Amino acid sequence: MSHIALLPSSGMGHLTPFLRLAALLTAHDLKITIITPYPTLSLAESQVLFHFFSTFPQIRQEKLQLLPLDNFSGNSKEDPFYCHIDVIRRSSHLLSSLLSSLSPPLAALITDMSLTASVVPITKALNIPNYIFFTSSAQMLTLFISFHTKANANLYEMDAFQIPTLEPIPKSWIPPPLLQDNDNLLKTYITKNGKEMTKSDGILVNTLESIEQESLAALNGGKVILGLPSVIAIGLLPPCFNQCESLAWLDTQPIGSVLYVSFGSKTAMSREQLKELGDGLMRSGYRFLWVVKDKKVDREDDKDLEDVIGNELTESVKERGLVVKHWLNQENILSHPAVGGFLSHCGWNSLTEAMWFGVRVLAWPQHGDQKINASLVERIGLGIWESSWGWGGEDIVKGQQIAEKVNELMGNELLRMKAVSVREKARAGMELGGTSVKMKALAKLIETWTKDH
Ligand code: UDP
Ligand code: UDP
Repeated sequence: MSHIALLPSSGMGHLTPFLRLAALLTAHDLKITIITPYPTLSLAESQVLFHFFSTFPQIRQEKLQLLPLDNFSGNSKEDPFYCHIDVIRRSSHLLSSLLSSLSPPLAALITDMSLTASVVPITKALNIPNYIFFTSSAQMLTLFISFHTKANANLYEMDAFQIPTLEPIPKSWIPPPLLQDNDNLLKTYITKNGKEMTKSDGILVNTLESIEQESLAALNGGKVILGLPSVIAIGLLPPCFNQCESLAWLDTQPIGSVLYVSFGSKTAMSREQLKELGDGLMRSGYRFLWVVKDKKVDREDDKDLEDVIGNELTESVKERGLVVKHWLNQENILSHPAVGGFLSHCGWNSLTEAMWFGVRVLAWPQHGDQKINASLVERIGLGIWESSWGWGGEDIVKGQQIAEKVNELMGNELLRMKAVSVREKARAGMELGGTSVKMKALAKLIETWTKDH
């Protein structure tokens, strides 16, 4: 039986698709090991890992013990998750003995994109094929792998990022740290890892040919960068396990009536913006389920809801909504019949989940790859994006503006139907049979891994 190991990095946005991929692979005749960097930064990651390994006892866990966090190279201005990725990177020399001790010897390692530059030399030395899993969109991949070619140019003076044969990416969509003169973790991370991707054996992306055909064709046609290995669209990866939780409030709401509001696992809005958002949700007149976050890292989130959004708003929202300040399993919510719309920051996983369940999206990108993802929301008919709202924290978006857009989303029957047709696309090409879900591209890859072992 061929042995495949997976190496995710930091944050739910990176861990979740790795777990989904691992779950899919177990349905085939493969032995699977997941190497989990330890400790995790967020509590959500450690909890999900616990549930995952209890649900899939056949998948082995190997912990990669990280160097002490007090060796953190990041400073307080950097995103704590980027700092954590940096600690994983600096601990990656420990992988060499771990990888060679695995039995039977690995047929392949699947590595998170953020660790490409540190792990590819190790797997090359050990002669283990290394596939990179890019956990964002194919369009983001076009920027990621070509950014290093322009890293010395004054990007701020450009109007757009040009990639041959593709629509230019407007400057305003590019993650702001990439446009800064000074070095920062994101810039170094994209420059270094993007450059080394050509040395991997293949790049997996949780996307579909039918939604990102142009980007995939450019990547595989050598238009973006020469010498790139195959870019394989393996998605959309289906949810892999159910964390039971009570959604009693949602169960009592009419079908399709609720707007679900969440900005992912690591985005905390300013208190002022949260107030306006609460005001906007109330003004819209729609029912809503709103997950509030006050800190990027959940372990630090120790305030009560009233402290964060105020007593008055906490009381008034009860009329029409449910507001929580703790982790809710998003798949359970998006699959619930009462949910009719999603106000989302457009993290790639959130969008793939919205596509999978056919829920229309009001895009409100906050940082990173999210504007690039938001543009896809409009392009494929999944929902709407008010691009004038800018990045998170750039301007305060007023309640009135938010209410108007919520109405535009929730009141539009055509958008609801379009989102349903995106779901059909998302699930097409997948044969659902018993417990095993087969995907063509992935099946081909599995064949490669098994035939040599
Ligand atoms: N998520 C969740 N509950 C929450 C917040 C997030 O289940 O309260 C999940 C969400 O379903 C997604 C992942 O965490 O799978 C977040 O990844 P995404 O790429 O959407 O955004 P990020 O958190 O990385 O910004
Ligand atoms: N990203 C990055 N460096 C990091 C983390 C993220 O460049 O250390 C970029 C990367 O291009 C990736 C995107 O941000 O495609 C999404 O990252 P992530 O899932 O961590 O969440 P987000 O920042 O979008 O919430």
